[in-house]
Amino acid sequence: MHYISTRGAAPRLSFEEVVLAGLAEDGGLYLPENIPAFSMAEITAMQSLSYTDLAYNIISCFTGNDITADALKNIINEAYKTFRHSAIAPTKQLDSNTYLLELFHGETLAFKDFALQFLGRLLDHILERRGQKATVIGATSGDTGSAAIAGCRGRKNMEIFILYPHGRVSDVQRLQMTTVQDKNIHNIALNGTFDDCQDMVKILLADMEFRNKYNLTAVNSINWARILAQTVYYFYTALRLGAPAKAVSFSVPTGNFGDIYAGYIAKKMGLPVEQLIIATNRNDILARTLATGTYGMAGVEPSLSPSMDIQISSNFERLLFDLYDRDGAKITEIMRDFRKNKKFTIEPEKLSRLRTEFAASSASDEETKNTIKSCYETTGEVLDPHTAVGLFAGNKARRNTETPLVVLATAHPAKFPDAVKAACNIHPELPPHLSDLFTRKEKFVHLENNVDLIKKLIEKNIK
Ligand SMILES: *Cc1c(COP(=O)(O)O)cnc(C)c1O
Repeated sequence: MHYISTRGAAPRLSFEEVVLAGLAEDGGLYLPENIPAFSMAEITAMQSLSYTDLAYNIISCFTGNDITADALKNIINEAYKTFRHSAIAPTKQLDSNTYLLELFHGETLAFKDFALQFLGRLLDHILERRGQKATVIGATSGDTGSAAIAGCRGRKNMEIFILYPHGRVSDVQRLQMTTVQDKNIHNIALNGTFDDCQDMVKILLADMEFRNKYNLTAVNSINWARILAQTVYYFYTALRLGAPAKAVSFSVPTGNFGDIYAGYIAKKMGLPVEQLIIATNRNDILARTLATGTYGMAGVEPSLSPSMDIQISSNFERLLFDLYDRDGAKITEIMRDFRKNKKFTIEPEKLSRLRTEFAASSASDEETKNTIKSCYETTGEVLDPHTAVGLFAGNKARRNTETPLVVLATAHPAKFPDAVKAACNIHPELPPHLSDLFTRKEKFVHLENNVDLIKKLIEKNIK
């Protein structure tokens, strides 16, 4: 199995190399040269598999010879052992044909644990095999940082530095990062915004001397291994709801287009998916693109679902690559255009293809709150605001009620207690493994937004 870049000008790499590289040299994103597909009979045969056996069946299609079967099984088993529900990704029925897929039973209570528990172990394994060490850096507005820390803590071959904007993440989000005491975890509270944190990561990665000296790598949502791990729960859920004999629809709270792109990959692998619904908050670049054909950047506005407050959806480039028949030169041109003009227009024929693959709808804060309230009143289920966006948009964009609609519940309500309380007057409690979170000791360094200070801190901790 080989991987190619969406911009067509970077070397073809193996699975292992793609996991280590993250972004391609030409600025593109890596994806497999071909997506393997299962037959109906093969999918039917997977119906009774446990989550981890199913994960092995799917993920091993993409790893080539880079990783042995035993090693991969071990990584998968260890990654999903950290989940607190025996089904790992349980489905809950909301009404006659609407379901919640609960993706928040991992360590940090958000679906990002599915990808990062796997990626942390996978990276460590690859580094060990190659006799290498790596320095992982990341910027976070909350959820990614804690999930990355939970996935990388205590791993032998990596030191991890997470930058978050001082005073601008929620208490739960901050504590989930700063109360992890492992020696290889370094939290940096930066004086600045999330964009400042992200710029800092970019500056460090662009400093080739520093980058090579410390073998810097980034944790971000464009790593192929993250997408791959997320493909599994689409299969797992659809199989439980009657696939492959019956099709299922999914509504996915979307920011960077990573999670829903994993659903698209599941469909390409043969899973019968009727609709893939892009659910966004008021930062609705994707919903606007589907409606108008113009992918245009607007300023980020804060919303009740902060993990989806994004300006551009980086993984969308992978989809464009397919829409434009895998023409890397064309994608390079489109992306150059986009950087210059902050927008580009998708040709009508491509747009109609996009609309056959996806539907989209967005929810305002008011609609999000009303959804939390009405869902609680009619079903007793307390939704987090991201999941509420998913339910609202799913109901709006759903074509028929005969097909089961699965709404991805991407976070536990206790992660966003203020929004939940304001909507339905319930204070969601943290699950037992985090109930003493507010009394745990914190470990972080508070720094000015200055690249030399960050570099010094990294150097000091790696020596
Ligand atoms: C990250 C995140 C999302 C968005 O996921 P993408 O893969 O970026 O589309 C949605 N909900 C929650 C709770 C998240 O943490």
